[in-house]
Amino acid sequence: MRITRVQNQAIDRPLKAPFAIAYKSVDRVRLFLFQLETDTGIEGIGAAATDEPVTGETDEACAAALAPENLAWLEGREIIAPAPLCRDLAQRLPETPAARAAVDMAIHDAWAKRLDLPLADALGRAHAEMPTSMTLGIRELEDTLAEAREFLGMGYRILKIKIGQDLEEDIARVRKIRELAGREILLRVDPNQGYTLDGLIRFSLETDSLDIEMIEQPLPVAEIEKLPALPEKLRRKIAVDENLIGEKDAIRLTGPYPAAGIYNIKLMKCGGIHPARNIAAIAEAAAIRLMWGCMIESRISLAAALHTAFACPGTRYLDLDGDWDLVEDVAEDGFTLENGVMRTSAAPGLGIGMGKAYLP
Ligand SMILES: [Mg+2]
Repeated sequence: MRITRVQNQAIDRPLKAPFAIAYKSVDRVRLFLFQLETDTGIEGIGAAATDEPVTGETDEACAAALAPENLAWLEGREIIAPAPLCRDLAQRLPETPAARAAVDMAIHDAWAKRLDLPLADALGRAHAEMPTSMTLGIRELEDTLAEAREFLGMGYRILKIKIGQDLEEDIARVRKIRELAGREILLRVDPNQGYTLDGLIRFSLETDSLDIEMIEQPLPVAEIEKLPALPEKLRRKIAVDENLIGEKDAIRLTGPYPAAGIYNIKLMKCGGIHPARNIAAIAEAAAIRLMWGCMIESRISLAAALHTAFACPGTRYLDLDGDWDLVEDVAEDGFTLENGVMRTSAAPGLGIGMGKAYLP
């Protein structure tokens, strides 16, 4: 199966409401679609959304990396297994991980379609289903509680609460959400680097009775070396996100005293399915649990993350709610989401259905 043609397209999508975290707020997102055609008639699809504050990749850089003239080297290449092409991608697009992820997932999509298997099965499935969290951005408390009520009403059983702008308000906010949600609901928090070490310890003590499952990236990226000094019980429920971009970070964070018990892998940070599986292998060898996160993204890349997550035995947490905020996604299928539980679709590859409206 040889690649005959590559295409891309950028699409701007508004969000249902502005989405705020500790260090930024957005009201629209640019989605990059990528498609490759092969001489078998099989097509592979991928998508990207940049995360400039974390990876340094701008929308302009992503668009330039995905331009067909920049990827002409793919035309004529054979897809037997994804790895050789993905290794070349890492060499050729080192500074644009989201663009790399879009191409990487299109290669995997075509490969698994050729095998006539859902991608998770082609990679070696370890999980059939898992619940995802839904994320509450930073808003007024009443709006946050209304949104929490809405998600619980839809059947979600895990809420991820964005915090990190004001410690006192955060503690009060988490307490109110616990009161609203009851004891059966799992609560995760994400200060997005908004805490000092003292603030983190204080938050942890004050919310001890609230049974918080996970604290994501509490400290600024530059202060990661402070985490190994914390008690193991606290470290085990900390997830690294902004500190974990690629494979080198995954190795560095393993020890000798791991900074955190959980790695939050995002395809848009690490550059796709191939590097994500490398990170997963490093984490699993170090007994670090895996969480799969996302940007605000189309379900094309969310499906890619879910298939990959289900092919990794160490996967424990999903946070793949990224198309909820879109007024309208650009694709269909890839996975089902019922009562907060995600399952990959049974169709081959990523299982994505999309019209030809975007990529002629
Ligand atoms: Mg995060």
